[in-house]
This record gives sequence, C-alpha cells and structure tokens, in this order.
Amino acid sequence: MVSEFTYNANPARIVFGRGVSANVAAEISGLGCSRALVLSTPFQAADAKKLAGVLGSHAVGVFSNAAMHTPVGVTQEAMVAYETSGADCVVSLGGGSTIGLGKAIAYRNDAPQIVIATTYAGSEVTPILGQTENGLKTTIRSAKVLPEVVIYDPELTVGLPVGMSVTSGLNAMAHAVEAVYAENRNPVTSLMAIEGVRALRESLPAIVKRPDDIEARSEALYGAWLCGAVLGTVGMALHHKICHTLGGTFDLPHADTHAIMLPHSAAYNAPVTAKEMAPLAELFGGSIGGGLWDFAKSLNAPLALRDLQVNESDLDRAADIATQNPYWNPRPIEHQAIRELLQRAFEGRRPE
Ligand code: NAD
Repeated sequence: MVSEFTYNANPARIVFGRGVSANVAAEISGLGCSRALVLSTPFQAADAKKLAGVLGSHAVGVFSNAAMHTPVGVTQEAMVAYETSGADCVVSLGGGSTIGLGKAIAYRNDAPQIVIATTYAGSEVTPILGQTENGLKTTIRSAKVLPEVVIYDPELTVGLPVGMSVTSGLNAMAHAVEAVYAENRNPVTSLMAIEGVRALRESLPAIVKRPDDIEARSEALYGAWLCGAVLGTVGMALHHKICHTLGGTFDLPHADTHAIMLPHSAAYNAPVTAKEMAPLAELFGGSIGGGLWDFAKSLNAPLALRDLQVNESDLDRAADIATQNPYWNPRPIEHQAIRELLQRAFEGRRPE
C-alpha cells in the first residue's frame, strides 16, 4: 500500500544537454529580460567574461567575487554592481558559491536567475539560501531564491578537477541518501534519489579514470540534478546537521566534509531504515555504510577528518553542537554514538 504523502514540487525550467549553454541569450529573453549581470567566483572569472562576451548586449556586467558560504559583505558589493549596471536578471556561472550569490541578490530584489551549474552540489534547484555574517551562518527557505532557469551543460564540467568532482558527487549522493528516509519523503522523491545515486555510482569511477569522458560527465550531472532536486523538496537529517556543524563551527570545506561523513551517518541510520535504503545498499554491495566508504576509498576521496585540519580535541564540542537542536532523524540522536561516529570519521576508519 502507498502511504499517505504530500509532495511540494519546486517549479523550474531545466535545460540539459551537451552544448546547451550556447542558448543562454534565448533563456534571458524567455524570462522577459535583456540585461544580465554575470556572476562567478574569482577562479571562474575568465569563463564569466567569455560568457558575457558571447551574450553581447544581453550582458551588462560581470561580478566575479562570489565566495564560499555567501558572505553578506560580498552580496552588498554585488547589489551595487547589479544596480549601477542597470541589470534586470542574473546569470550565475559556477557551483554552490556563485549560485548562493545569485540567490542572495534575488532574495533582496527578486531578480530572475538563470543558473549554469558547473559542480554537483545541487544548490541550483533548491529554494534554500545559506549566508554568513559576523561568522554566523543562517539558512533561509524562500520561493524567491529558487532559480527560474537551470542550464546543465556537461561540457562545462569537464574542467572540474577530478578531486572536486569526486567530493562534489559524494555531496550530491548525501542529499539522496537522506531523502530516501526523510520524514516527509514521497514516492517521487524516492525514485529520483535512487536514480540520482545510481547515476553517480556509475559515472564517478569513469570520471576518475578519464576526466574528459563526456558520457560520464553527462551521467554525473544528470545524477546531481536529481539529488539536488530532492534536497530542495524534502527535509535533511543527521548527516546534514553534522556537516553544517563541522562546516560552520570549524570552517571546513563543504564537499570534503560531506564526502568524509556520508558513510558514517548512513551507517548510523542504517539499522532503522533498512527498507528505505535497500535499493541504495544494493548499489554498494549490500552494506550502505561500509559500501559507501569502500566506494569513496576507491575514488581516492578524503576519508579522515584529521586530514581537514580538525583537532581531536574539537570532537567533543562537535558532538555537543551536532546533538543540540537536532534535525528530525529516523534513529534517535544518541550523544555517545555520535561522538564515536565522529571519532571513526576523524581517524578515517571504515564504519562497522
Ligand atoms: P564552489 O561553488 O565553492 O566551487 C568550488 C571551486 O570550484 C570554486 O573556485 C569554483 O569557481 C570552482 N569550479 C566550479 N565549477 C568548476 C568547473 N566546472 N571547472 C573548474 N572549476 C570549477 O563549490 P560547491 O561545492 O559547488 O558549493 C559549495 C557552496 O554551496 C557552499 O557554500 C554550500 O553551503 C553551498 N550549497 C548550497 C546549497 C543550497 O541548497 N543552498 C546546496 C549545496 C551547496
């Protein structure tokens, strides 16, 4: 029997395929806009400039100072650039950092957003904005920040370094793993989550072997879209809480933290979510925690928190914060078990 459910889908236009980023001008016009401010991080500034050149009169400026965790000071600079350039929309070219900046602008002035996603983090399909001010990260959920158009062009992901492709892909998988056991899961998000993990399970090893394998890049981006879409639709649990704690309190790199923690948080929840996680466990040889860890190891992903400059003496504090005001989780949050989980992740040991 199908259990009772409620499904709130996020409206967005998704344009997927090799070479589709050539159609950005048409997407700008399709939104009734004509003057885009192109956004990027400093690292992708040259790509943003090139895109603005291709857009010609459809681009009125480039702002390339996007930074991780969307600092409010950077958003204020970008707002000035938006207003002085006379822009009527933003084109965000990049991963979660650039997309976060576009969302922060839209949150303030309702600017329509076209996103060209170049990592697997999934922010482009969520109505969630995380921003930081005075060292504090706050999260806002608002329909205003959901991008109107998302362009997925696998050709633009070929340059994503292999290490980052792996951690970003595992970050995407983490959304899907938590989606299958989410409190407000529904049959559609579960289908999307399982298919998203399958696509990344198949494509990431191929990308590690040959980073310019366009078929694998295409499959990974497809998986990332599905995983991002479920992140935007259902609630996340223990894994995301731990990663937010570690990321926010100890300023750890986002994707690496997800990659290290995922096998451990999945193993923690496995005993009480066997039915929901069965299709995922099957993809990883039968054991979700151990299987994910073996998979991450085979891709040379980071496995130990100590390699991210976490001090062992910080783990007690991390366990305290991660267990205070916990998100809903299928297994009760047990302080001692979470502390042990953090210890295993710190040492890079395979979950039991
Ligand atoms: P990122 O956007 O910070 O990108 C990392 C680096 O890789 C940047 O320098 C970027 O310019 C570069 N890069 C991106 N794509 C590239 C490509 N194809 N080729 C070469 N270089 C490329 O990394 P991320 O992991 O995508 O995003 C992390 C941020 O996104 C965090 O702040 C996180 O909190 C946020 N996030 C938000 C949501 C949400 O729903 N709000 C979801 C996921 C992540």
